[in-house]
Amino acid sequence: HAKARGRNGVALFEAGMLRDAERRLTLERDLGLALDHGELSLHLQLQVDGARRPSGAELLMRWRRKDGSSVPPDQFIPVAESSGLIVPLGEWVLREACLAWHVLARAGHPLPLSVNVSPMQFRQPDFVARVESILQETGVPPGQLVFEITEGLLVDRRDRTIERMHELAALGIRVSVDDFGTGYSSLAYLTRMPLYELKIDKSFIRDTPHDKDGTAIVQSILSMAGHLGLRVVAEGVETEAQAGYLARHGNASMQGYLFHRPMPLDDLLAHLRGLPELLD
Ligand code: C2E
Ligand code: MG
Ligand code: MG
Ligand code: MG
Repeated sequence: HAKARGRNGVALFEAGMLRDAERRLTLERDLGLALDHGELSLHLQLQVDGARRPSGAELLMRWRRKDGSSVPPDQFIPVAESSGLIVPLGEWVLREACLAWHVLARAGHPLPLSVNVSPMQFRQPDFVARVESILQETGVPPGQLVFEITEGLLVDRRDRTIERMHELAALGIRVSVDDFGTGYSSLAYLTRMPLYELKIDKSFIRDTPHDKDGTAIVQSILSMAGHLGLRVVAEGVETEAQAGYLARHGNASMQGYLFHRPMPLDDLLAHLRGLPELLD
């Protein structure tokens, strides 16, 4: 009996794996066509400073199929990474970010823009050269771009990562560590890297201030970043209690639904027009 059930279990497991593999292949094939078919777009989410004024914005990829359904980034970004599609897609995001920067600047809002750079993209031998040529092509001041990398890059092949960070810094581009606190980076190494910013992962913000452990992590990151002279952005700020805690314990910028949702560039322009004048 047990044996029969076991065999059944295996069969079910295999069927599940097959479905997953098929789903992945379909996603991969469709994603390869999505850019040419005009199904990909970018949303921008404003970050705010302690006074709750816009201090930058992050670009986030969106995929809306022709039938109107959306595929969330958490589903298609991993497929883009494993298939290598993230390399051309990432380059498209960077070019779009540069165009968006000019549109915002012309409207009176020259905001620093953050783009997510996947590990595979970051490790391409010609990555820095391609970034440089996009900068030249678009004429965006490099100091207006922030590259968000993941903590994994600070763990594997660390020396190569540090070298690359210096190459980007030489161009004037700033580097941020996304989802900070979820990886296994060595704190000692943070001081050896030309880093600009840490983004506290939203899982810790979610637990603040009611959960002792999550809050302790947020507080440690704020304090460490303060000592190291790093900018901090708290991601996923959804409540006044979270914003209040952050304001009392450091000077982090904040990004989250409490302030601004990710939105298309046109909506962002309209949104910025509706905000109180920036004092500069
Ligand atoms: P991320 O870079 O950590 O981006 C922050 C995510 O938090 C975004 O999810 C954003 O929509 C979401 N978020 C913002 N405020 C709140 C909030 O108050 N509460 C909650 N619960 N969530 C909030 P999104 O847009 O679904 O993107 C997910 C991930 O996909 C990103 O995480 C990033 O890792 C990846 N991704 C998105 N666009 C790109 C891209 O252009 N290139 C690469 N390589 N990765 C991207
Ligand atoms: Mg990010
Ligand atoms: Mg993040
Ligand atoms: Mg994330």
